[in-house]
Amino acid sequence: MIHDNAWTTYGAEDLKKLEDLSADYIDFLNSGKTERECTELIVAMAKENGYRDLADVIAKGEKLSKGDKVYAVNMHKMVMLVNIGNDIVNKGMNIIGAHIDSPRLDIKQNPLYESDELAFLDTHYYGGIKKYQYVTIPLALHGVVAKKDGTRVIINIGEKDGDPVFVISDLLVHLSADQMQKTAAKVIEGENLDVLVGCKPLKGEEKDAVKAAILKILKEEYDIEEDDFVSAEIEAVPAGKAREAGFDRSMIVGYGHDDICCSYSAAAAMMEVSDPETTACGLFVDKEEIGSVGATGMESHFFEDMVREVLDRMDIYSELNLARCLRNSRMLSADVSMAYDPLYADRFEKKNSSKLGHGLSFKKYTGVRGKSGANDANAEYLGLLRGIMDKHGVVYQTSELGKVDGGGGGTIAYILSLYGMQVVDCGIPILSMHAPWETLSKSDLYEALKGYKAFFIEG
Ligand code: MN
Ligand code: MN
Repeated sequence: MIHDNAWTTYGAEDLKKLEDLSADYIDFLNSGKTERECTELIVAMAKENGYRDLADVIAKGEKLSKGDKVYAVNMHKMVMLVNIGNDIVNKGMNIIGAHIDSPRLDIKQNPLYESDELAFLDTHYYGGIKKYQYVTIPLALHGVVAKKDGTRVIINIGEKDGDPVFVISDLLVHLSADQMQKTAAKVIEGENLDVLVGCKPLKGEEKDAVKAAILKILKEEYDIEEDDFVSAEIEAVPAGKAREAGFDRSMIVGYGHDDICCSYSAAAAMMEVSDPETTACGLFVDKEEIGSVGATGMESHFFEDMVREVLDRMDIYSELNLARCLRNSRMLSADVSMAYDPLYADRFEKKNSSKLGHGLSFKKYTGVRGKSGANDANAEYLGLLRGIMDKHGVVYQTSELGKVDGGGGGTIAYILSLYGMQVVDCGIPILSMHAPWETLSKSDLYEALKGYKAFFIEG
C-alpha cells in the first residue's frame, strides 16, 4: 500500500520483527564489507537452509527437481541461489538481483612506497565517490593476496578491537587558503588518496627504512612479499561497525548499504520462502559500481550458464527451453534509491522522490537526460506488483533519480531485460548514498524484506 510513513503502521509484533531483522542486518554488514565477504556470508546462509553447491550436483551427476535448492559461486565474488518450483520453463523464475560490491579504494598492484620517512599504499578508487570524504577517517583493509603457489592469504585488518587502522591525510586548515578555493572534485586529487601505513624506520637500514620495516611486518605477520601485491585484491574501506542512529534508534548508519541492504533482505527473503510455486532465484553480483562489466559482473554469461546447468540437471535443457525460461521470468532489480534530503531539497522533485521511512521504493525508470540508458519497466508489470504488495500489506513508494536533468544513474535492470523478461528497479531509500557512511531507516529494510518475500511467493 502507498502510505505516508511505514512506521505509523506497526504494532508490537511488527516492531519486534523489525528490530530482530535490523540486528541481523547489522551483524551481516559488520562481517560483509566486500563482494568476497558477502559471497561467503550468503553461501553460509544458503547452506544452513539446505542449499547444495550446484558444482557438486554436476560433479556427482545428480539430478534436480522441484523442491531442490542450489547455489552457484563465481570466482568468490558472485552468487546465484535457486529454489526450484513448478514448471521452470513456462512459468520462468521470480528473480531478485542485487549487487554486493560497494564504492571504496582499491590498493594498486605496485602500491608500497616511502616518502620523507612515511610509508604509503597507493590506491585507485572504485566506483563513484566524493574523494574528499575518504580523508582523515579510519580505514580497514579487506581482501585477498593470491600467491604464486596457488595459496591465498585473506586480509582483514582494522575491524577487530586492538587492530590498527589506516588513514589518508588532508592538508591542515591553517594552510588551506588555496585548497579551499578549489572545486569539490579537485580538493582531494585521486592520486593523493594514498593510505598512510607507517612511520617507524627499521634500525640499521640506510634507504627507505620505514618501507623496509613495513615489508618486514608484512612478511612476518602475513607471509606477504612486496611482489605479492601484484596478485592481490585489497580494498580500503571505512573501518568500524554499523550502528543504530538517532535518539529513536530508527536508522542504521553503515558502510555499504548500497547495495548490501537490498542483497541482505533479498537473501533473507529467499531463506524464508519454502516450496515456492514458481522457482525463486537470487542473484548477488559484483562490479555494478563500475558498470556491471567483467566475469563477475551482471553482463557476464554466468547467470545464463548456471540456468543452463540447472535445466540440464532437470533433464529439460535445450536452447529453446532456456530462452523460454528467461523470457517468462520476472525480476526485481533490488538496488537502493536516493532518499529525499530536505537539506538539499532543490536537487529533488519531491512528489517523485523516495522518502526515508516510507517503505520499499519502486523506480519505473532510471537513466540520465531523458531516461537515456534506463530500463523503463512495463505498466502492466507495475500493476501486477502493486497487487502483490497490497495483498501482503507491504508499504511501498515510487521514485525517480532526482529531478529531471539533475543527474542520474543506472542499475543491473537493463541487462536482465535483454532476455525479454519483466524487470523493475525496487529498493531501499538511502541518505548520503556512496558516502563512507550511508544511512537508512529500519522500516524500509523491514518493508523490503516483506516485499521481496511477497514477490517470491506471489510473483
Ligand atoms: Mn547500487
Ligand atoms: Mn551505487
